[in-house]
Amino acid sequence: MTNGAQGQEEPKLETNSAEPVVLQQVGDKAAPSKTTAELPHWLGPIVYDASSATDSTKSTPSVLGPVAPWYPIVSPLLESLPDFTPEAIANVSEMDQGEVAELAADDQEEESAALVVQPEEKETSTLPKIVILIDDLGYNRKGMEGALELPSQVALAILPSTPFALKTAEVSQQQKRITLLHAPMENQRELKLGPGGLYANMTEQELKSSLIKDIDSLPGIVGVNNHMGSLLTTKQVPMNWVMETLKERSLFFIDSLTSPKSVAQKTAKDYGLRTVSRDVFLDNIRHEKAIDKQFNRLLKTARSQGVALAIGHPYPETMAYLHKRLQQIKGDGVQLAPLTDILINPSK
Ligand SMILES: [Zn+2]
Repeated sequence: MTNGAQGQEEPKLETNSAEPVVLQQVGDKAAPSKTTAELPHWLGPIVYDASSATDSTKSTPSVLGPVAPWYPIVSPLLESLPDFTPEAIANVSEMDQGEVAELAADDQEEESAALVVQPEEKETSTLPKIVILIDDLGYNRKGMEGALELPSQVALAILPSTPFALKTAEVSQQQKRITLLHAPMENQRELKLGPGGLYANMTEQELKSSLIKDIDSLPGIVGVNNHMGSLLTTKQVPMNWVMETLKERSLFFIDSLTSPKSVAQKTAKDYGLRTVSRDVFLDNIRHEKAIDKQFNRLLKTARSQGVALAIGHPYPETMAYLHKRLQQIKGDGVQLAPLTDILINPSK
Protein backbone atom coordinates (compact mmCIF):
# COMPACT_ATOMS: atom_id res chain seq x y z
CA MET A 1 0.00 0.00 0.00
CA THR A 2 1.34 3.36 -0.91
CA ASN A 3 1.44 6.10 1.64
CA GLY A 4 3.18 9.19 0.33
CA ALA A 5 3.13 12.83 1.32
CA GLN A 6 -0.38 13.34 0.08
CA GLY A 7 -0.96 16.71 1.64
CA GLN A 8 1.85 18.25 -0.32
CA GLU A 9 1.14 16.35 -3.48
CA GLU A 10 -2.50 17.15 -3.89
CA PRO A 11 -3.55 20.26 -5.75
CA LYS A 12 -4.80 23.02 -3.54
CA LEU A 13 -8.50 23.55 -3.66
CA GLU A 14 -10.02 26.92 -4.17
CA THR A 15 -11.29 28.13 -0.83
CA ASN A 16 -14.15 30.52 -0.61
CA SER A 17 -13.97 32.71 2.42
CA ALA A 18 -17.67 33.51 2.11
CA GLU A 19 -18.52 29.89 2.75
CA PRO A 20 -18.66 28.76 6.34
CA VAL A 21 -16.49 25.82 7.20
CA VAL A 22 -18.94 23.37 8.65
CA LEU A 23 -19.01 19.77 9.60
CA GLN A 24 -21.48 17.65 7.72
CA GLN A 25 -23.00 14.64 9.38
CA VAL A 26 -22.89 11.56 7.22
CA GLY A 27 -24.39 8.62 9.01
CA ASP A 28 -22.91 8.79 12.47
CA LYS A 29 -19.63 10.25 11.39
CA ALA A 30 -18.56 13.82 10.96
CA ALA A 31 -17.07 14.62 7.59
CA PRO A 32 -13.87 16.59 7.47
CA SER A 33 -14.29 20.26 6.84
CA LYS A 34 -13.36 21.69 3.49
CA THR A 35 -9.84 22.72 4.25
CA THR A 36 -6.71 21.73 2.41
CA ALA A 37 -5.03 20.81 5.66
CA GLU A 38 -7.52 18.04 6.29
CA LEU A 39 -7.48 16.55 2.82
CA PRO A 40 -5.15 13.69 3.69
CA HIS A 41 -8.19 12.11 5.36
CA TRP A 42 -9.96 11.80 2.08
CA LEU A 43 -9.64 8.08 1.83
CA GLY A 44 -9.79 7.31 5.51
CA PRO A 45 -11.61 4.30 6.94
CA ILE A 46 -14.80 6.34 7.40
CA VAL A 47 -15.70 5.91 3.75
CA TYR A 48 -15.79 2.17 4.05
CA ASP A 49 -18.23 2.21 6.92
CA ALA A 50 -21.05 0.30 5.26
CA SER A 51 -23.52 1.02 8.04
CA SER A 52 -23.08 4.76 7.85
CA ALA A 53 -23.29 4.64 4.08
CA THR A 54 -26.55 2.71 4.24
CA ASP A 55 -27.98 5.02 6.88
CA SER A 56 -27.24 8.15 4.95
CA THR A 57 -28.69 6.65 1.80
CA LYS A 58 -31.88 5.76 3.66
CA SER A 59 -32.14 9.22 5.11
CA THR A 60 -32.30 10.63 1.60
CA PRO A 61 -35.95 11.09 0.63
CA SER A 62 -35.16 11.30 -3.04
CA VAL A 63 -32.09 10.84 -5.16
CA LEU A 64 -33.31 13.68 -7.31
CA GLY A 65 -33.80 16.25 -4.58
CA PRO A 66 -32.52 19.81 -4.87
CA VAL A 67 -28.78 20.31 -5.05
CA ALA A 68 -27.49 22.00 -1.95
CA PRO A 69 -23.93 23.04 -1.17
CA TRP A 70 -21.96 20.20 0.36
CA TYR A 71 -18.58 19.41 1.72
CA PRO A 72 -17.20 16.15 0.49
CA ILE A 73 -16.45 13.37 2.90
CA VAL A 74 -13.57 12.75 0.64
CA SER A 75 -12.30 14.66 -2.29
CA PRO A 76 -10.88 12.34 -4.91
CA LEU A 77 -8.31 14.56 -6.50
CA LEU A 78 -6.66 14.80 -9.79
CA GLU A 79 -2.99 14.09 -9.86
CA SER A 80 -1.79 17.12 -11.66
CA LEU A 81 -2.80 20.42 -13.09
CA PRO A 82 -1.25 20.19 -16.54
CA ASP A 83 -3.66 22.70 -18.03
CA PHE A 84 -3.07 25.39 -15.46
CA THR A 85 0.46 26.57 -15.64
CA PRO A 86 0.56 30.38 -15.63
CA GLU A 87 1.42 30.26 -19.34
CA ALA A 88 -1.50 27.97 -20.08
CA ILE A 89 -3.90 30.22 -18.21
CA ALA A 90 -2.67 33.23 -20.14
CA ASN A 91 -3.04 31.36 -23.43
CA VAL A 92 -6.49 30.13 -22.54
CA SER A 93 -7.55 33.64 -21.67
CA GLU A 94 -6.47 34.84 -25.06
CA MET A 95 -8.11 31.99 -26.88
CA ASP A 96 -11.29 32.32 -24.92
CA GLN A 97 -11.71 36.01 -25.61
CA GLY A 98 -11.89 35.23 -29.29
CA GLU A 99 -14.04 32.26 -28.55
CA VAL A 100 -16.50 34.22 -26.44
CA ALA A 101 -16.90 36.84 -29.16
CA GLU A 102 -17.44 34.09 -31.68
CA LEU A 103 -19.96 32.39 -29.46
CA ALA A 104 -21.81 35.62 -28.80
CA ALA A 105 -22.18 36.14 -32.53
CA ASP A 106 -23.42 32.60 -32.90
CA ASP A 107 -25.85 33.08 -30.04
CA GLN A 108 -27.44 35.97 -31.87
CA GLU A 109 -27.71 34.00 -35.06
CA GLU A 110 -29.24 31.05 -33.26
CA GLU A 111 -31.73 33.22 -31.43
CA SER A 112 -32.96 35.02 -34.51
CA ALA A 113 -33.21 31.72 -36.35
CA ALA A 114 -35.22 30.30 -33.48
CA LEU A 115 -37.81 33.00 -33.94
CA VAL A 116 -38.55 31.69 -37.40
CA VAL A 117 -38.09 27.95 -37.07
CA GLN A 118 -38.03 25.81 -33.96
CA PRO A 119 -34.74 23.89 -33.95
CA GLU A 120 -35.41 20.19 -34.36
CA GLU A 121 -33.28 17.14 -33.70
CA LYS A 122 -32.79 16.70 -37.41
CA GLU A 123 -31.10 20.06 -37.71
CA THR A 124 -28.79 19.49 -34.77
CA SER A 125 -27.44 16.19 -36.10
CA THR A 126 -24.68 17.92 -38.04
CA LEU A 127 -23.55 20.17 -35.19
CA PRO A 128 -20.19 19.52 -33.47
CA LYS A 129 -20.58 17.15 -30.55
CA ILE A 130 -19.53 17.75 -26.98
CA VAL A 131 -19.53 14.82 -24.59
CA ILE A 132 -19.34 15.09 -20.82
CA LEU A 133 -18.25 12.38 -18.42
CA ILE A 134 -18.50 12.92 -14.67
CA ASP A 135 -16.25 10.56 -12.74
CA ASP A 136 -15.10 10.02 -9.14
CA LEU A 137 -18.69 9.17 -8.20
CA GLY A 138 -19.41 6.98 -5.19
CA TYR A 139 -18.10 8.78 -2.14
CA ASN A 140 -20.63 11.54 -1.75
CA ARG A 141 -24.41 11.60 -1.71
CA LYS A 142 -24.83 15.20 -2.85
CA GLY A 143 -22.39 14.64 -5.66
CA MET A 144 -24.40 11.61 -6.74
CA GLU A 145 -27.64 13.55 -6.67
CA GLY A 146 -26.22 16.46 -8.61
CA ALA A 147 -24.77 14.20 -11.28
CA LEU A 148 -27.98 12.21 -11.67
CA GLU A 149 -29.88 15.44 -12.29
CA LEU A 150 -27.71 16.35 -15.29
CA PRO A 151 -29.10 15.68 -18.79
CA SER A 152 -29.20 11.97 -19.57
CA GLN A 153 -26.51 12.29 -22.27
CA VAL A 154 -23.96 13.00 -19.52
CA ALA A 155 -22.13 9.76 -18.68
CA LEU A 156 -21.13 8.79 -15.16
CA ALA A 157 -18.10 6.82 -13.95
CA ILE A 158 -18.24 5.24 -10.52
CA LEU A 159 -15.43 4.25 -8.14
CA PRO A 160 -15.87 0.62 -7.05
CA SER A 161 -16.74 -0.42 -3.50
CA THR A 162 -17.57 3.10 -2.40
CA PRO A 163 -20.57 3.95 -0.18
CA PHE A 164 -22.79 5.24 -2.98
CA ALA A 165 -21.44 3.18 -5.86
CA LEU A 166 -24.35 0.78 -6.09
CA LYS A 167 -27.04 3.43 -5.67
CA THR A 168 -25.45 5.63 -8.33
CA ALA A 169 -25.16 2.71 -10.75
CA GLU A 170 -28.73 1.58 -10.18
CA VAL A 171 -30.32 4.99 -10.72
CA SER A 172 -28.04 5.75 -13.64
CA GLN A 173 -29.14 2.48 -15.23
CA GLN A 174 -32.82 3.32 -14.64
CA GLN A 175 -32.22 6.63 -16.39
CA LYS A 176 -30.68 4.75 -19.34
CA ARG A 177 -27.56 6.79 -18.77
CA ILE A 178 -24.16 5.52 -19.95
CA THR A 179 -22.42 4.18 -16.86
CA LEU A 180 -18.73 3.35 -16.47
CA LEU A 181 -16.47 1.79 -13.93
CA HIS A 182 -13.92 4.40 -12.82
CA ALA A 183 -11.04 1.98 -12.32
CA PRO A 184 -8.44 3.18 -9.80
CA MET A 185 -4.94 2.85 -11.22
CA GLU A 186 -1.57 3.51 -9.63
CA ASN A 187 -0.30 7.08 -9.95
CA GLN A 188 3.19 8.49 -9.86
CA ARG A 189 2.69 10.40 -6.67
CA GLU A 190 1.69 7.54 -4.40
CA LEU A 191 -1.75 8.95 -3.76
CA LYS A 192 -4.02 6.33 -2.27
CA LEU A 193 -6.33 4.61 -4.71
CA GLY A 194 -8.97 3.25 -2.36
CA PRO A 195 -10.62 -0.13 -2.84
CA GLY A 196 -10.19 -2.09 -6.06
CA GLY A 197 -6.96 -0.36 -7.08
CA LEU A 198 -4.75 -1.71 -9.83
CA TYR A 199 -1.00 -1.51 -9.19
CA ALA A 200 2.07 -1.89 -11.38
CA ASN A 201 3.57 -4.58 -9.14
CA MET A 202 0.51 -6.86 -9.42
CA THR A 203 0.77 -10.17 -11.21
CA GLU A 204 -1.45 -10.80 -14.21
CA GLN A 205 -3.73 -12.92 -12.04
CA GLU A 206 -3.95 -10.26 -9.31
CA LEU A 207 -4.61 -7.38 -11.66
CA LYS A 208 -7.20 -9.17 -13.76
CA SER A 209 -9.10 -10.58 -10.80
CA SER A 210 -9.12 -7.18 -9.11
CA LEU A 211 -10.45 -5.51 -12.26
CA ILE A 212 -13.08 -8.20 -12.80
CA LYS A 213 -14.22 -7.81 -9.20
CA ASP A 214 -14.53 -4.03 -9.74
CA ILE A 215 -16.55 -4.52 -12.92
CA ASP A 216 -18.83 -7.14 -11.37
CA SER A 217 -19.52 -4.95 -8.34
CA LEU A 218 -21.52 -2.48 -10.43
CA PRO A 219 -24.65 -3.22 -12.50
CA GLY A 220 -25.03 -1.92 -16.03
CA ILE A 221 -21.39 -1.01 -16.71
CA VAL A 222 -20.69 -0.53 -20.44
CA GLY A 223 -17.20 0.93 -20.28
CA VAL A 224 -14.23 1.81 -18.10
CA ASN A 225 -12.08 4.89 -17.58
CA ASN A 226 -9.02 5.28 -15.39
CA HIS A 227 -9.01 7.02 -12.02
CA MET A 228 -5.54 8.59 -11.63
CA GLY A 229 -3.23 6.06 -13.33
CA SER A 230 -0.34 8.35 -14.24
CA LEU A 231 1.98 5.42 -13.51
CA LEU A 232 -0.03 2.37 -14.57
CA THR A 233 -1.25 3.77 -17.89
CA THR A 234 2.38 4.20 -19.00
CA LYS A 235 3.12 0.49 -18.44
CA GLN A 236 2.51 -1.63 -21.51
CA VAL A 237 2.14 -5.04 -19.89
CA PRO A 238 -0.47 -4.11 -17.26
CA MET A 239 -2.37 -2.17 -19.95
CA ASN A 240 -2.41 -5.32 -22.08
CA TRP A 241 -3.99 -7.19 -19.16
CA VAL A 242 -6.55 -4.44 -18.63
CA MET A 243 -7.59 -4.40 -22.29
CA GLU A 244 -7.71 -8.21 -22.49
CA THR A 245 -10.12 -8.18 -19.58
CA LEU A 246 -12.31 -5.46 -21.09
CA LYS A 247 -12.26 -7.17 -24.48
CA GLU A 248 -13.67 -10.36 -22.98
CA ARG A 249 -16.58 -8.37 -21.64
CA SER A 250 -17.10 -6.14 -24.68
CA LEU A 251 -16.48 -2.99 -22.64
CA PHE A 252 -15.10 0.21 -24.13
CA PHE A 253 -12.20 2.18 -22.64
CA ILE A 254 -11.85 5.92 -22.08
CA ASP A 255 -8.33 7.19 -21.45
CA SER A 256 -8.59 9.95 -18.85
CA LEU A 257 -5.10 10.91 -20.00
CA THR A 258 -3.52 11.63 -16.64
CA SER A 259 -0.06 11.16 -18.15
CA PRO A 260 1.14 12.41 -21.53
CA LYS A 261 3.01 9.09 -21.76
CA SER A 262 -0.15 7.01 -21.43
CA VAL A 263 -0.25 3.98 -23.71
CA ALA A 264 -3.80 3.14 -22.64
CA GLN A 265 -5.71 4.38 -25.67
CA LYS A 266 -3.25 2.89 -28.13
CA THR A 267 -3.40 -0.43 -26.33
CA ALA A 268 -7.19 -0.32 -26.34
CA LYS A 269 -7.08 0.17 -30.11
CA ASP A 270 -4.57 -2.65 -30.50
CA TYR A 271 -7.03 -4.94 -28.76
CA GLY A 272 -9.89 -3.74 -30.98
CA LEU A 273 -11.75 -1.95 -28.21
CA ARG A 274 -13.90 1.07 -28.88
CA THR A 275 -12.05 3.96 -27.26
CA VAL A 276 -11.49 7.70 -27.05
CA SER A 277 -9.36 9.94 -24.84
CA ARG A 278 -10.19 12.97 -22.77
CA ASP A 279 -9.73 16.40 -24.34
CA VAL A 280 -10.46 18.73 -21.41
CA PHE A 281 -10.68 18.52 -17.63
CA LEU A 282 -13.44 20.90 -16.60
CA ASP A 283 -12.66 21.53 -12.98
CA ASN A 284 -9.00 21.18 -12.03
CA ILE A 285 -9.70 24.57 -10.51
CA ARG A 286 -12.99 24.51 -8.64
CA HIS A 287 -14.22 27.95 -9.50
CA GLU A 288 -17.00 29.02 -11.84
CA LYS A 289 -14.74 31.24 -13.95
CA ALA A 290 -12.11 28.53 -14.35
CA ILE A 291 -14.76 25.95 -15.22
CA ASP A 292 -16.21 28.35 -17.77
CA LYS A 293 -12.80 28.76 -19.41
CA GLN A 294 -12.44 25.01 -19.66
CA PHE A 295 -15.96 24.66 -21.03
CA ASN A 296 -15.10 27.19 -23.71
CA ARG A 297 -12.00 25.14 -24.53
CA LEU A 298 -14.29 22.15 -24.92
CA LEU A 299 -16.49 24.07 -27.38
CA LYS A 300 -13.45 25.24 -29.30
CA THR A 301 -12.08 21.70 -29.56
CA ALA A 302 -15.45 20.35 -30.68
CA ARG A 303 -15.63 22.96 -33.40
CA SER A 304 -12.18 22.17 -34.71
CA GLN A 305 -12.32 18.35 -34.34
CA GLY A 306 -16.06 17.78 -34.71
CA VAL A 307 -16.19 16.04 -31.34
CA ALA A 308 -14.68 16.69 -27.92
CA LEU A 309 -14.74 14.92 -24.57
CA ALA A 310 -14.65 16.66 -21.19
CA ILE A 311 -14.22 14.99 -17.83
CA GLY A 312 -15.59 16.70 -14.75
CA HIS A 313 -16.15 15.81 -11.12
CA PRO A 314 -19.16 15.88 -8.82
CA TYR A 315 -18.12 19.08 -7.10
CA PRO A 316 -20.91 21.54 -6.26
CA GLU A 317 -19.27 24.20 -8.44
CA THR A 318 -19.15 21.88 -11.45
CA MET A 319 -22.69 20.59 -10.94
CA ALA A 320 -24.09 24.11 -10.60
CA TYR A 321 -22.24 25.28 -13.70
CA LEU A 322 -23.31 22.34 -15.86
CA HIS A 323 -26.92 22.42 -14.70
CA LYS A 324 -27.14 25.98 -15.92
CA ARG A 325 -24.91 25.86 -18.97
CA LEU A 326 -26.21 22.66 -20.54
CA GLN A 327 -29.72 24.07 -20.67
CA GLN A 328 -28.48 26.68 -23.14
CA ILE A 329 -26.21 24.44 -25.14
CA LYS A 330 -28.02 24.83 -28.45
CA GLY A 331 -27.16 28.50 -28.33
CA ASP A 332 -23.48 27.50 -28.47
CA GLY A 333 -23.92 25.88 -31.86
CA VAL A 334 -22.96 22.42 -30.56
CA GLN A 335 -24.89 19.42 -29.38
CA LEU A 336 -24.53 17.47 -26.17
CA ALA A 337 -24.01 13.89 -27.33
CA PRO A 338 -23.83 10.56 -25.54
CA LEU A 339 -20.34 9.17 -24.97
CA THR A 340 -20.97 6.18 -27.22
CA ASP A 341 -21.45 8.57 -30.17
CA ILE A 342 -17.77 9.52 -30.24
CA LEU A 343 -16.03 6.22 -29.59
CA ILE A 344 -13.45 5.26 -32.18
CA ASN A 345 -14.02 1.73 -33.38
CA PRO A 346 -10.67 0.33 -34.57
CA SER A 347 -12.29 -2.71 -36.15
CA LYS A 348 -14.04 -0.53 -38.72
ZN1 LIG B 1 -10.86 9.91 -10.78
